Amino acid sequence: MALIVQKFGGTSVGSVERIQNVANRVIAEIQQGNQVVVVVSAMGKTTDELVSLAKQISVSPSKREMDMLMATGEQMTISLLCMALKEKGYEAVSLTGWQAGIQTEAIHGNARIEHIQTERVQGLLNEGRIVVVAGFQGITADKEITTLGRGGSDTTAVALAAALQADKCDIYTDVTGVFTTDPRYVKTARKLQSISYDEMLELANLGAGVLHPRAVELAKNYHVSLEVRSSMELERGTIVEEEASMEQNLIVRGIAFEDNVSRVTVVGMEDQLHTLPTIFTTLAKHQINVDIIIQSIISSGEPSISFSVKTDDLQKTVDVLSQYADTLGYERIEHESGLAKVSIVGSGMVSNPGVAADMFEVLAGEKVEVKMVSTSEIKISTVVNQAEMVRAVEVLHQAFQLDAEMAGAK
Ligand code: ASP
Ligand code: MG
Repeated sequence: MALIVQKFGGTSVGSVERIQNVANRVIAEIQQGNQVVVVVSAMGKTTDELVSLAKQISVSPSKREMDMLMATGEQMTISLLCMALKEKGYEAVSLTGWQAGIQTEAIHGNARIEHIQTERVQGLLNEGRIVVVAGFQGITADKEITTLGRGGSDTTAVALAAALQADKCDIYTDVTGVFTTDPRYVKTARKLQSISYDEMLELANLGAGVLHPRAVELAKNYHVSLEVRSSMELERGTIVEEEASMEQNLIVRGIAFEDNVSRVTVVGMEDQLHTLPTIFTTLAKHQINVDIIIQSIISSGEPSISFSVKTDDLQKTVDVLSQYADTLGYERIEHESGLAKVSIVGSGMVSNPGVAADMFEVLAGEKVEVKMVSTSEIKISTVVNQAEMVRAVEVLHQAFQLDAEMAGAK
């Protein structure tokens, strides 16, 4: 008998019919002779609707009350799913985050799980029940309800799988797995049979919404075997594991991209040594997230620094820098919007020098101008014109042999 944690996202539980479908997927696992813990998200767009309700009442609602409000979404789903299971003749018990023993740090809106007291869940499993736990929520030592950040139900599932030493954690979602790139934009995108934790973490951090980055981090740290698969279709999904076992011949495993990127350049810094840290401290204080940073110290010219921000934050960035112009000490600010970030990710890069060169070569061949670059051991990100984003992804997808009929595909 294996212990399996199944997690179903918002779309998968978005209606009564979908909840019935989820109940059937749970029962199928039980009929295999397994014990099952189910973690669910709020139905459909419920969390967004709760946030919008709050915004109609207050521009900056208290974070404690926001957590209190948002935690109700998942609570709806657990009770409905348990009712559905009972109707089908199966014993199920719903538990909120605190009932399931999920203890978090005392930070509202983005709490990390510190510890899970598994006795209650374990006891119910031993009695032969299906345990249905509300994702995305926990409780502090002071008995305050917290949430884990948007998309946090994945993290609940992986943390429970780790704490219960489950044999497997299946993340059921509205796509059939993790793809080489977004299939809505690139027709030849292909579902991966497997991907490593590190690659998945890079992709998740680059905005591939399929998994919450912290869930991947936890899975890696606790060696939780993960599978991302469809709640509607029966086909196998993508296994996330230590070392992706198949398709090892691929240097690049996935391509992520995001639009609405802007570049800001601060030209003519008076006192490089002090201006540099002050700029970023000031931006951080104003909650502006800076992504790629490029500094150029040209012996003859003016020392300048360029960085990228989300276009939504551009105006605020310019305002803040102008407001502090005197203390920061620079000559002028230049900025450019309408940009996008295109990143290639793959563990194979570590042992294959020249991947960046290949990437630039391919982009140059398509006359796609690269405006900024940043790298990690297994990732290369470039900033290009937004109008050229999809074309850049397409040519890279082909050049690095990620297309459907290429290497490793079954
Ligand atoms: N319901 C939460 C959200 O929409 C958590 C989740 O779905 O994972 O962000
Ligand atoms: Mg999600």
